[in-house]
Amino acid sequence: MYHQPPRAAFRASRLTPTTFLIKEYDDVYSEHPHIYVKVDTQANTILIIDTGCGGKSNDQTIEVKSLRRFIETVAVDDNNGLPLNKGANMKYIIALTHCHYDHILAVEDFKDSIVLASGHSPSFLDKNVMPEHSLCKNLGINTPIFASTLVPHLYDIVSSHGGNHRLGVTILHTPGHTPDEIALYDEADMMLYVGDTIYEWEPTIFPKEGSIVTWFSSMDFLIAFVKGKNEERKLSTQAKGSATQVLVNSGHQTALQPAVELLLAAKDYMQEVLDGKRSVTDRRWNRGEETVSYGKTGDRFSLRCPARLIREAREGQKITA
Ligand SMILES: [Zn+2]
Repeated sequence: MYHQPPRAAFRASRLTPTTFLIKEYDDVYSEHPHIYVKVDTQANTILIIDTGCGGKSNDQTIEVKSLRRFIETVAVDDNNGLPLNKGANMKYIIALTHCHYDHILAVEDFKDSIVLASGHSPSFLDKNVMPEHSLCKNLGINTPIFASTLVPHLYDIVSSHGGNHRLGVTILHTPGHTPDEIALYDEADMMLYVGDTIYEWEPTIFPKEGSIVTWFSSMDFLIAFVKGKNEERKLSTQAKGSATQVLVNSGHQTALQPAVELLLAAKDYMQEVLDGKRSVTDRRWNRGEETVSYGKTGDRFSLRCPARLIREAREGQKITA
């Protein structure tokens, strides 16, 4: 007898031989967050990058709202019709690209697992300020309670599940969107996971805790980093994977896009905003500050942030010019 799979708040598709994109496609917050899953059978470990917004769907008929239940029980066509972690045989490591609610709301599903987050600004992740910094307070929703391990820049993820295995994934501190924003680089796949540092087709949003000045520094770091990786791969005669250049996967919308082109284009766009070449399309009040928008949903790049962040970035560039 054929059983229809349960209706889930998530859809999974394959990105590489070891990596899947899980998209929360109809969440009540309209965030449509990307969750990335890397399956490392040798290390008996599944690395989950971000956890989405907790499976709260607009569709009342959804049966599977738990990300963990989805990963352990729901058949995925791109995984030969098997769940990504059938029988919960593999253990988890969770990495949070930053603490905004749409990336952390399902983290309590993984209380038995290691949760990695940025060590760049521990005070930003203090549990007393988490309701504010996660934006949960602003939305009137419960803030997840969890313990995280704060890791340094260039931290190499090691799994202790069945021996000490390097996953070949490095955490990079890329503050800007928030002080705790990280990127992750998967060496064999040549994949860069950038969280909310950049994505396309929806407004890039900076909260009042963000900094465009710091974002530019992180973008310069990432551009140099991926150019270096592309160059290394060109020169390498025994490259492990089949990839030939670094691709970007973002926290929303963007996946599998050539990294150098996207990073440079996003940086050019932001410079045009600072240079006054883009006009304000909306002004409103948000979390106690005047918030401005440039461009609109559907443009490759658009921006929404406190007007103060634009002023600070303009002043910063005047001083260094
Ligand atoms: Zn965010």
